Amino acid sequence: MSHHTAIIVGGGPAGLALAVVLGGWHPYYRGSEVFSARYPQLAEYLAPRQDTLLGLDFQELVRTGVAPADLFRLLHHPRQKFEELAQVAMEFRQGETLDYLLLSQEQVGGLWNKAPRNLLTLSPGQWMEFAFYPLAQYAEEQDLALDVNELICKTDLIEYYHWVPSRFGQEEHIHTGEKVTRIEPHERGFLLTSLELETRCTRQYTCKYLIYAAGQRCQLRRLGVEGEELPLVTSRYDRPEDFPGHRVMVVGGGRSADWAATELHDAGRQVSYVMRQSRELHWQLIGDSRHGLPYYARIASILEHGSPRMEALYRTRVKRIGRDGRVWLSTGGEERVVQVDHLIKEIGGIADYSLFTGFPAALQLEEKYDNYRFQVHQVRTHPHNYESIDIPNLYAGGYLAAGIGLVVIAMHGTTYAIAGDLLQKEGRITPGS
Ligand SMILES: Cc1cc2nc3c(=O)[nH]c(=O)nc-3n(C[C@H](O)[C@H](O)[C@H](O)COP(=O)(O)OP(=O)(O)OC[C@H]3O[C@@H](n4cnc5c(N)ncnc54)[C@H](O)[C@@H]3O)c2cc1C
Repeated sequence: MSHHTAIIVGGGPAGLALAVVLGGWHPYYRGSEVFSARYPQLAEYLAPRQDTLLGLDFQELVRTGVAPADLFRLLHHPRQKFEELAQVAMEFRQGETLDYLLLSQEQVGGLWNKAPRNLLTLSPGQWMEFAFYPLAQYAEEQDLALDVNELICKTDLIEYYHWVPSRFGQEEHIHTGEKVTRIEPHERGFLLTSLELETRCTRQYTCKYLIYAAGQRCQLRRLGVEGEELPLVTSRYDRPEDFPGHRVMVVGGGRSADWAATELHDAGRQVSYVMRQSRELHWQLIGDSRHGLPYYARIASILEHGSPRMEALYRTRVKRIGRDGRVWLSTGGEERVVQVDHLIKEIGGIADYSLFTGFPAALQLEEKYDNYRFQVHQVRTHPHNYESIDIPNLYAGGYLAAGIGLVVIAMHGTTYAIAGDLLQKEGRITPGS
């Protein structure tokens, strides 16, 4: 059993960003014209600082009404459009590495590993980047023609995330293909049990600080109906070629389901699109998105023109799935049977806190949802460091910390306050310096 000062669970954008910062890449204020022009009070407050921003007095910052995640977002993105690297008001210098380990069941990049191949992000590419490695810098180093102000395709984004560990020399601290199955209290802090997915070997680790950044959909939701385990049913949609039959049922109603239904339709499949929600609710999302996102303009057009290859079934539930591909539905109070070759579940997932066991206090959770149709139970945390109010030295990474917005530039917003708090507690950085 090995001991580490800190362990991060989850190698998505939230966990990966923290790994690089704990790995020694620390932010320093350098200012920029646009930052000073837009946020003169912050610029004045930060200008005298010679030391790393990880040494900020985060409690004082919160008392003055500035959330740490917001401060670092503004330093990184002082304006929405990217024009030049010099607009980023902080720079990163390499310092001392903390003894940390990152454990993740997937490769780094988190849920983007399994997102559909051609999926476009909801936000411009540069909003998905880390402050220590702007996408424009990556594109220049790799000689890639990326417009960082446009939506970015999943394949480009995941290559960027996969490149980060070696680019910043963190590979030896990162164990992928390892699923944490239990987290318990221990005299040295926390005891983690994990399963190496390839060898099926069990491992154990202890650590003083734990950062839980396992994302908002570690446990995929289930329909809970007969036939759900049949081979014709899947919860993974990558691309139309994986579904060679003609008739595909997509069950969902959020953004992932909209993407799958649209792409399958355009690839010539016959799509039954089953949703529990009402038509009004679905069209609210389409209406909000059709002018900014090209695939929403497309699904709007398919449905408005009444394409014979897409049937949208609102207020509909799957009741049973048969071996022969018949699916029994309850739609508007009536039963209906639809014959399909494949059924794709795009019904989302939930954050999994069931791993935590044996702690004197249970984690208090708050439900959070937004206009983008993301929802998650967040951990109640202190606003200055995103440390759980119930379990000391446990930090909630990314969207799992209460008070963090669910989408767009927020996913690694907790990074700097967590890293700063932890390094300050360890005496590596003088608080308030
Ligand atoms: C389809 C889709 C599109 C999205 N589009 C955008 C967008 O355009 N812009 C935006 O800002 N956000 C978007 N989001 C929000 C999204 O949550 C973030 O982009 C981001 O991936 C969240 O990062 P994360 O690190 O918190 O979690 P994740 O990306 O979910 O990463 C968590 C990682 O932890 C792993 N893990 C979980 N449990 C364990 C365990 N027990 N042991 C080991 N590893 C574990 C998971 O397998 C995963 O690899 C989108 C989300 C979805 C689902």
